[in-house]
Amino acid sequence: MIFETKKLFYEDSRLSSFDATVLGVEPLKKGFGIILDKTAFYPEGGGQPADRGKLFCSSGEVSIFDVYEKDGIILHRADKPVGVGEAVSGRIDWPWRFELMQHHTAEHIVSGIIHSIHKLDNVGFHMGSESVTIDVSGALNDSQISEVEIAANKVIYENKEVLASFPSEEELERLSYRSKKKLSGQVRIVSIPDADVCACCGLHASRTGEVGIVKITSFQKYKGGTRLSLLAGLKAFADYSEKSCGIDAASSLLSSKQDEIPAAIKRILDENAILKQAVSSFKAQDNERRAAMIPDGARLAVSFEEGASAFDIRLSCLALCKKAEIAAVFSVSADGVKYAIGSFSSDCRSLAEDLNKAFGGRGGGKPELVQGAAYADPESLRSHLLEYFGSFAEV
Ligand SMILES: [Zn+2]
Repeated sequence: MIFETKKLFYEDSRLSSFDATVLGVEPLKKGFGIILDKTAFYPEGGGQPADRGKLFCSSGEVSIFDVYEKDGIILHRADKPVGVGEAVSGRIDWPWRFELMQHHTAEHIVSGIIHSIHKLDNVGFHMGSESVTIDVSGALNDSQISEVEIAANKVIYENKEVLASFPSEEELERLSYRSKKKLSGQVRIVSIPDADVCACCGLHASRTGEVGIVKITSFQKYKGGTRLSLLAGLKAFADYSEKSCGIDAASSLLSSKQDEIPAAIKRILDENAILKQAVSSFKAQDNERRAAMIPDGARLAVSFEEGASAFDIRLSCLALCKKAEIAAVFSVSADGVKYAIGSFSSDCRSLAEDLNKAFGGRGGGKPELVQGAAYADPESLRSHLLEYFGSFAEV
């Protein structure tokens, strides 16, 4: 049986509710595919995600969570079946659709401007839940992106009419329009004066002013070209608000005016680098001072360092090894200890294995240096090491 569904969305892209008759229902792997005699639900296509919404029928309401076209038939994927021949009312999720139309129209404006100013083609387009991405066929720099962004927002404020038409083959031949591929059959052309002429089957705002604003939030090199991410309408506004809050917080923390934040961060990073260098130098001197305290001929030197990093206990251990045959340095925390055990003259792995066995630890390394962690406290480690070595120097 051949079903033909009238595409109300092409007659009026702002139509959010409609009446229809059920022509067919088929069970799908997930839900039921409902076929209507007419629909305002847009099926996924042209980079634009499908509509969602509800159908109201005599038995109650049915949720539509996907719409797609297969072999020329539009299937509304529903959570429940509806009787064939039944009269239904459809209502699409308008905020969802409107947001998609805003972003889709923004994509046309930006792609059209990039095409006319920089002679680059749109070679990829994705409308995700977070943002829209556009892939263009060449490189763009900061100032070019900024120029495109300003031009696109001007087109929005000029509130130009967005036109969709199905030109004849002769008209199409004379028309210069963007298209990702060679098209045949009936081609739908979407035009935005002074911005874009493009073959597209998706749905768009009626006028550019409905887009509100477009912001290119990021761009990067991608497959020899550039990938741009953009936001439009309330999503762009939400992004602005979130970033504004973040900047306010940074401004308050740094006690700097907004335009002075980068310089203030740079100053802190420079100071931090100097402090890190000073701390590192101080630690190295302290390690040498403590190594000098170890008696000549000591078999084992031990050190407990509150909350030290794995990197710091390794440096400490290597310094203490210069005076003792073996050095064991422990970083103490409420969870137990991290250890670094080292030796320049013997295999220190047996001591590490012994500690792991005695205190449920784990770790590994080379004969000259082993690092790991164990569930132990300084007192039990001191007792255990005393038993193992007879004596040790604690520094
Ligand atoms: Zn489009």
